[in-house]
Amino acid sequence: MEKIIILGQGIAGSIIAFRLLEAGIPPEIVDDNHKHSSSMVAAGLWNPIVFRRINKSWKADEFIPELESFFTRVEWKLGADFYQSLDISRMHSSKLEQDLWMEKKTLPGFFDYLGEPEDVPPTHFESGEFGLGKVHRAGYIDLPAFLQSAAEFFKSEGLYKQANISDTWIAEQLAQNDVAVIDCRGYQSAFSGYWSYLPFGLTKGEVLTISCDGLDLESIFNAGFFVCPLGENRYRVGATFNWDDCDQKPTEDGKQQLVEKLEKWLKSPFEIEDHKAGVRPTVQDRRPLIGVHPNHKNLWLFNGMGTKGVMLAPQLSQVFTSAFLHGNPIPKEMNISRFEKLLGQQNPTVNYPNP
Ligand SMILES: Cc1cc2nc3c(=O)[nH]c(=O)nc-3n(C[C@H](O)[C@H](O)[C@H](O)COP(=O)(O)OP(=O)(O)OC[C@H]3O[C@@H](n4cnc5c(N)ncnc54)[C@H](O)[C@@H]3O)c2cc1C
Repeated sequence: MEKIIILGQGIAGSIIAFRLLEAGIPPEIVDDNHKHSSSMVAAGLWNPIVFRRINKSWKADEFIPELESFFTRVEWKLGADFYQSLDISRMHSSKLEQDLWMEKKTLPGFFDYLGEPEDVPPTHFESGEFGLGKVHRAGYIDLPAFLQSAAEFFKSEGLYKQANISDTWIAEQLAQNDVAVIDCRGYQSAFSGYWSYLPFGLTKGEVLTISCDGLDLESIFNAGFFVCPLGENRYRVGATFNWDDCDQKPTEDGKQQLVEKLEKWLKSPFEIEDHKAGVRPTVQDRRPLIGVHPNHKNLWLFNGMGTKGVMLAPQLSQVFTSAFLHGNPIPKEMNISRFEKLLGQQNPTVNYPNP
């Protein structure tokens, strides 16, 4: 292949670009300056545990070591600062959750992740009825810092181009036989005629940035919503889930949902500094969308990272590049081939055409 073009410079596109560079194949990266970016809005958290039933998140044992090694390596390469390892202080939501925590923390598969039960909540927060526990090997990536330093690096290497990509533009590239296109446009790929058969189930989300003097939170607070320390008395608070809208406009309702939760748990006064909304590239069966287009052998998709781009993309980018460069198989549960029977149909949950 003469030329490889990556569409989109969110988490997905950036990580694929680094993987190709590591393989000695410099791609071209095209992005609309993050105009439709979910990654720029995301809190960037990773968490190995699914609460309530205290289970491990899908493939957490594989994904977390790869996330840790990938982001620390790229942080060093870019000379930037975006990887933050932090415990999560989880306020149990029920007696059942508290009991399951006690039971699971004795199992070998959970040793690394579940801490001892605790009674005292982080300072300035209310005590819950059912106590709390700390989740280890969690944290967050400062995604704007990661994406901006990655963009600067790609620009300095002459690999980055700013443009708004249309289906016509993609068709022109595919008409040249020696060009491969990798679509990493996040939720915007759902509006492309090439992928309109895929069952995206997009989810809008909103987050706040607040300041709160003297809070000094040293872990990520979680009580069905999160408060994540950003430094200098600033905190990210999130997130909402809305399956009806798919625009990037922050709403009064979204803000109120988060403020109510904060006021219930946080005893100190706070100020709202910022309020953002984005659209998660979620899929109806909650699994990623990776693979080659059934009718266009040079058009690939790396998408459907859903609510967990930070945790999934480092490991799954290896699955992708191994298939893209070496023809190795992509597991069925994440391969877009699982939806080939839908080809020719149009996903009824996405409003066409592109809003
Ligand atoms: C409120 C909220 C909170 C979240 N919190 C977390 C979290 O804590 N942890 C976590 O792991 N995930 C979280 N997510 C999910 C996370 O944002 C996604 O999993 C991830 O960002 C998807 O990355 P992506 O690269 O596939 O898409 P995107 O980040 O959307 O990147 C796509 C890129 O393509 C560009 N693009 C799109 N269309 C075009 C076009 N036509 N032409 C040119 N460029 C184009 C966009 O502008 C963008 O830069 C959250 C999401 C939201 C909305």
